[in-house]
Amino acid sequence: MSSGPVNRCFIKVAVPCPLRKCFDYSTHDCPAPGSRVEIPFGHRNLVGVVIATLACEPSRTVKPVIRIIDPEPVIPPTLLELMLWAADYYHHPVGEVILMALPPQLRTARVLTDPESVTVYSRNNEVSEESALSLLSRSRRQRQLYEHLQPDHRYSLAMLSRHPALSDMKNLKPILGKLVTRNLVSEASQFPTTDCPDIIPFPGQLTEEQLEAVNRVNQYAGIFQTFVLYGITGSGKTEVYLHIIEQILARGQQSLVLVPEISLTPQLVSQFTNRIGKQVWCYHSSMSPSDRYKTWWKARTGTAGVILGTRSAVFLPVSRLGAIMIDEEHDSSYKQQEGFRYHARDMAVKRASIENIPVILGSATPSMESMEHARSGKYKLLCLTERTGKSQLPGIFLVSLRKHPAPDGLSPHIVDAIAKQLDLKQQTILYINRRGFSPVVHCGRCEWQAKCPRCDARLTYHRSVSRFVCHYCGKAEHSYETCPRCDHRLSFLGSGTQRIEEALAKQFPQASIFRFDRDRLQSLESLHKAITQVSDQRIDIIIGTQLITKGHNFPKVTLVGVINPDQGLYSIDFRAPETLFQQLVQVAGRAGRGPDPGKVIIQTAHPRHVYLDIIRNHRFSDFYQVCRDEREMTRLPPFSHIALWRASSVRAGAGLEFLGLVQQMGTELINALDLDTIELMDPVYSPMQKIDRHYRAQLLVKSSNRRLLHKLLGPWVRAVEGTRANRKKIRWSIDVDPMDLY
Ligand code: ADP
Ligand code: ZN
Ligand code: ZN
Repeated sequence: MSSGPVNRCFIKVAVPCPLRKCFDYSTHDCPAPGSRVEIPFGHRNLVGVVIATLACEPSRTVKPVIRIIDPEPVIPPTLLELMLWAADYYHHPVGEVILMALPPQLRTARVLTDPESVTVYSRNNEVSEESALSLLSRSRRQRQLYEHLQPDHRYSLAMLSRHPALSDMKNLKPILGKLVTRNLVSEASQFPTTDCPDIIPFPGQLTEEQLEAVNRVNQYAGIFQTFVLYGITGSGKTEVYLHIIEQILARGQQSLVLVPEISLTPQLVSQFTNRIGKQVWCYHSSMSPSDRYKTWWKARTGTAGVILGTRSAVFLPVSRLGAIMIDEEHDSSYKQQEGFRYHARDMAVKRASIENIPVILGSATPSMESMEHARSGKYKLLCLTERTGKSQLPGIFLVSLRKHPAPDGLSPHIVDAIAKQLDLKQQTILYINRRGFSPVVHCGRCEWQAKCPRCDARLTYHRSVSRFVCHYCGKAEHSYETCPRCDHRLSFLGSGTQRIEEALAKQFPQASIFRFDRDRLQSLESLHKAITQVSDQRIDIIIGTQLITKGHNFPKVTLVGVINPDQGLYSIDFRAPETLFQQLVQVAGRAGRGPDPGKVIIQTAHPRHVYLDIIRNHRFSDFYQVCRDEREMTRLPPFSHIALWRASSVRAGAGLEFLGLVQQMGTELINALDLDTIELMDPVYSPMQKIDRHYRAQLLVKSSNRRLLHKLLGPWVRAVEGTRANRKKIRWSIDVDPMDLY
């Protein structure tokens, strides 16, 4: 008998491998796009995600899938669309994009289960107790357990193992398993009843500006629109988010709130839970895989009212998404700096457009890109120009380091101001963007400097551990006091957090001082503890790096000192002025958030610098004008779209040679595709030429038209991926919309 035609279906699968393409397989049942399948790949079996079903049989023979893991898609269609778009836009392998966006537990062949369901056991009523006991007459432990189960009661494993009568039974689970197989006990899943407590209403009254912002966003239910919520520090942006969220919950929908990496503190979470109750779920990379999975599940089933997460939360399958909010939208932690280099803010805007919902980008210092969109009218601008309640913006004063020497980094102005703070029992933040004791170890006689042998960087003296440390590769060596070349006594120049800490301890022995930097706060937990100590006013003076600038609300901080911002004024990085401006405004915004007025002192050798002048006079919107002119003149974002090729290699010239080849391919494509508006620079060594023994080179591409840039990048990246040169000991990447050109 001849066999009839076998019903077969062909599918396109994204596989987690570094290739920029999908692979075809065959199946009997046709899984929907977004479902996971287990597939043979090379010598291994991998988990991939179905992207599409093919209309016809591929010309090449394809292997069958091993099994379809999900009966229904784990990735809903709109999210799959976003991921495919992202892989295309960032020119990154699609399999890596999709699998990275799943919680770790779903990257394996594990089947989906409700993380909150519990297996419960009960007697099988179909079998009489009498016959059951006779069946079990020879199995003492099974019998004992069976007798323990009361008819018509349900027991979870945890309940049983806690019971004293069963305490001598070690492995309850296999015994229960046997009873189930013998059909004497049945097992079932039980779901906890969900309790959603009421929303606790806002005790205060929204300001007119807050109300206006909330109302305008609420008009866009089910309509795509990007808003920039430009609200000065302390203007109550969080309360605006909360009111929008309330409306969305009332419609039975969910909200996604993204926050920068370091800001997901217990303080922020309780600010949300205090109002929205148990419907708030967190998602960030330091959570355990099972907690992440729980939030993922709650998002997907629509049971999480609000999801509060960092960058990667933008890829959660929130099934009834009503709006996305991005707090501190200017923050650079939204851009992933390695592997799949996506920008979570840009992803959020794209997602909102796919889902037809509003997206709100909030900040006291919005990015140049967002402000430019607001200017052009593409984004709608919502302004909060006043602080809430009684608090006012702090006065800002500049101290010239040319006129007033600052031994150990502290000018007399700052020392006096701190003394007053201590008298008044108020808190002070000193902001300095350098860890360690001294960033320059120098010989005054022969000009020798301590440099890292692996990197293009100076070593920083860390006095507390007696080491010279490289902040790029982490290399540390024992410190010494005399010049290794001429034996002269070494000088330790410049100030880091540790030197300031020492100087303060000498000046103010009675004060409690806390250093808030990565050396001191290595875990998230220690960071959270420190924040609580500051809130409880157990600390008088906080010395901090950027860690302290972000979003915190400490009402008793009334003085902020900036030790030395000058590095940022003359940096070669095109975003340095913007970053400096954002950091200064943010740290200044920590001052005077309570009823007492605040004061900010900035020490600088360049008190006349235009940016510092703008900050001193609170003319923040002027900053955007000045910076805009600079970017327009140099044709940098937002006045052009850029992409950066990076290559690194152990041999000094290899990366540069490779990028020479890349440039050649690019030029050919530009000619072939007639894209003469695209500017292709020459490959150069990166400003940080060497990090951790690898030489780094880069090649910049600029275009005034985004579409044309991507028309070039697509075939270009594929061509580079296909070259033989690519295989040779070179690590390369393409960074679309890079944050820096280092
Ligand atoms: P931002 O994020 O804009 O810097 P926050 O959202 O942290 O500001 O708000 C600053 C403080 O003002 C918070 O303690 C908040 O509870 C309070 N607040 C917000 N809105 C109001 C309001 N309308 N009236 C009184 N206090 C408010
Ligand atoms: Zn010397
Ligand atoms: Zn180094």
